[in-house]
Amino acid sequence: MKYKFISDSHLHSINSFDGKDSVIMIAERACQLNLYSITITDHCECNEYEEQNVRKDIEGSVIDTAKARAMYLDKLRIYTGIELGQPTQNEKAAQEALSLGEYDFVLGSLHNIRGEQDFYFIEYTPENTTDLLDRYFREMSDLAKTDYYDSLAHLTYPLRYLAGKTEIPFDRRRYDDAIDEILSELVRRDKALEVNTSGLRQLIGKTLPDEEIIRRFRELGGKYVTLGSDAHRWGDVGAGIEEGLALLQKCGFTHFTVFEKRQPRLLPI
Ligand SMILES: [Zn+2]
Ligand SMILES: [Zn+2]
Repeated sequence: MKYKFISDSHLHSINSFDGKDSVIMIAERACQLNLYSITITDHCECNEYEEQNVRKDIEGSVIDTAKARAMYLDKLRIYTGIELGQPTQNEKAAQEALSLGEYDFVLGSLHNIRGEQDFYFIEYTPENTTDLLDRYFREMSDLAKTDYYDSLAHLTYPLRYLAGKTEIPFDRRRYDDAIDEILSELVRRDKALEVNTSGLRQLIGKTLPDEEIIRRFRELGGKYVTLGSDAHRWGDVGAGIEEGLALLQKCGFTHFTVFEKRQPRLLPI
């Protein structure tokens, strides 16, 4: 292991609709890999909170994480987190979800823009792509301006699927100002940017966001970066975190961040 501290701050258990393995299995895998800490961040899709009975999943996640924490007390730091999706689309749900646990860490996410399905399911065409991306960055900016999160998750999320499923080019320069606005908001609010390493094991082949945006975050004064594999199965726990640390170093960061009781803790790379 090249790095002293390896932390995976974005992990899904069976308490996420798309998670495959238990918190205990995730913890066991993290121990095998000698990780410093993990944070369980099961989904809370706020826009589906009532229909999908998301509350039950969140309560399950908090309980399972507490149990694992007690079991692994001497072996591994296990933090209680949540991935709060679309909190601005259902603020009542977001507030309720945040009251269900004593969280260490809240990831703020946007998987679907208002009135649309998850980017995962969208058929991209040259005609609809620009409009969808324009709306995505606008809604991310609205989310960045709230206090519903500690770290903003997988910025450029739609590219995971755009780059994977289509040949439609991403006109990056069109979004320079929008991205700057989001990153500046994080800096102003002392929030973290997540570097999500799931893209490294998908067709896009890059972290979300990628190097250019991570560099820009630092240039704008960004201090806190969290790293997460976004694993949905135990075999992916810790995947890409070392590559993520190397990338942070390359971008000039000397530390990465984990959150404990919703406070940032800087750890040396
Ligand atoms: Zn997500
Ligand atoms: Zn996730």
